[in-house]
Amino acid sequence: MESAVSAAETKQQQQQHSNGSSYNDQNDIVGWFERVSENAGPVQTETLRRILELNCGVEYLKKWLGDIQVQETEACVLESLYTSLVPLSTHADIEPLVQRIADGDTGPILTHQPITTLSLSSGTTEGRQKYVPFTRHSAQTTLQIFRLAAAYRSRAYPTREGGRILEFIYSSKQFKTKGDISVGTATTHYYNSQEFKIKQEKTKSFTCSPQEVISSGDYKQSTYCHLLLGLFFSDQVEFITSTFAYSIVQAFSAFEELWQDLCTDIREGSLSTRISLPKVRKAVSDIISPNPSLASKIEENCNELRGLDWCGLIPKLWPNAKYVYSIMTGSMQPYLKKLRHYAMDLPLVSADYGSTESWIGANLDPCLPPERVTFAVIPTFSYFEFIPLFRRRQNCASVSDDFIEDEPIPLSQVKIGQEYEIVLTTFTGLYRYRLGDVVEVAGFHNGTPKLNFMCRRKLILTINIDKNTEKDLQMVVERGSELLMRKAKAELVDFTSHADVAHQPGHYVIFWEIKGEVEERVLKDCCTEMDASFVDHGYVVSRRTNSIGPLELRIVERGTFKKILDYFIGNGAALSQFKIPRCTSNQVILRILNACTIKRFYSTTYD
Ligand code: AMP
Repeated sequence: MESAVSAAETKQQQQQHSNGSSYNDQNDIVGWFERVSENAGPVQTETLRRILELNCGVEYLKKWLGDIQVQETEACVLESLYTSLVPLSTHADIEPLVQRIADGDTGPILTHQPITTLSLSSGTTEGRQKYVPFTRHSAQTTLQIFRLAAAYRSRAYPTREGGRILEFIYSSKQFKTKGDISVGTATTHYYNSQEFKIKQEKTKSFTCSPQEVISSGDYKQSTYCHLLLGLFFSDQVEFITSTFAYSIVQAFSAFEELWQDLCTDIREGSLSTRISLPKVRKAVSDIISPNPSLASKIEENCNELRGLDWCGLIPKLWPNAKYVYSIMTGSMQPYLKKLRHYAMDLPLVSADYGSTESWIGANLDPCLPPERVTFAVIPTFSYFEFIPLFRRRQNCASVSDDFIEDEPIPLSQVKIGQEYEIVLTTFTGLYRYRLGDVVEVAGFHNGTPKLNFMCRRKLILTINIDKNTEKDLQMVVERGSELLMRKAKAELVDFTSHADVAHQPGHYVIFWEIKGEVEERVLKDCCTEMDASFVDHGYVVSRRTNSIGPLELRIVERGTFKKILDYFIGNGAALSQFKIPRCTSNQVILRILNACTIKRFYSTTYD
């Protein structure tokens, strides 16, 4: 069985190298996934063997594996040798090696294949941006997971072949390191790759915007053009998508301000002066032409939509769109409400789970609402291990983390209902690398686990014995924003938080940007409600004893979170991968938040 799987896999990889993809139609890729998921355990063992075969003797592995003859060692033996000899690693462990690559060392440090491109992953290592290796394999797996997910989606929501996709996608600026290595976000590398073009052909749907718009480097100009071309081709648009849901919400809130200019451009076949980049102007002008009847129709619809606070904007303006597709889980969950507002009855399909380091799993149940979506692990992409995590009992002295760990186990041994941290061994030179994401096994697809994304492992709010994760904060903010909606019909636009330890006693600060008029009394109630909603025992005890002070709610002026976005984009982030940090100690961000604070409230929960 093992060798049959491995032979099929090898053939598939070889074919991929020759034409970018071995599957001509959706049934093939679904059939392939059925086979590898049925044999997920052996496929994982084989995947590890292949990674080690490709990279045996590189500096990092040599240090731990010595001169083990990978080719002559049986895959199962190799798996147990590898997991017992090579230690778990974090980004901090590989950072000096990645830095040498960035500086131009072309020796076999992490991989035999020279690394010519590095990606920027979210988060930092001690204040420095995190670089991870990117190779052709990374773009190929992106293509493969997109095609797999597209195949499952098209079964549930068939789309017209040759139709268009309104894609809110953005490349970041790329730069070169001292050693002439290109650095950019993983999505940027992908949009520039051959695989991105192949994807459009294989899935037979084409993005509305030309490459010049995607890679303009100015997200405001790109957003305007995505909207303009999306409207221009509105009859042909089969679905609307972005990498993370934030980009769609951001684009449609910009649309609320821009629609009149967009209508003028459609009517006259012109391009607003706000598009100043010559390459973008040319590329877009070559596509559009005057269409007065479409402009009048859009104008009429917008006048109606305005009175409805833009509820149902998507189906009204894109009547043939079948669904909205984007990552809506994890830190994107807070944008779901706004997305539903724009999409109304149109299905929201939650996109796949991955990271700059490796793709992980695909959503095989596109009909499930985003709150219930799971990701089936793709056992050929990387070698996955799972560190069992157990919630700590209360009152534990250590606050560095919320979990007790057990020994890592292979994919074939995970259990339903158990939480784990994911560990990756990748084709791109990461070995037993802790990703820092917490997942729960929700079930199985054949032999491969279906994961629920829980949260990033790092605690985000902690002062002393209190421990709150991003998910805890999200739940608390949801309670507060429900009250805001119920009592004032106002909307929470975005939020972040900070653990203020500069003043004694330390306390949590939650920053809210809101839309709508709200009485101070209501905001005070929201603040108190949120404070009461933190259920972590360490927090409750500390609040009762006043070793943590009352929760502070700060209202920031409209546009504050846009300023934060601009700050990150200015520092090399791409809108496509942007995630508002839900807790920050970044001095620049805090300065923006402080300067924009217009009101402060303190909770009376434990008075
Ligand atoms: P990046 O490093 O920018 O590539 O972001 C990768 C991280 O985004 C992952 O480690 C997750 O924490 C988060 N992420 C990616 N895909 C999803 C998803 N489908 N649901 C929830 N979080 C996700």
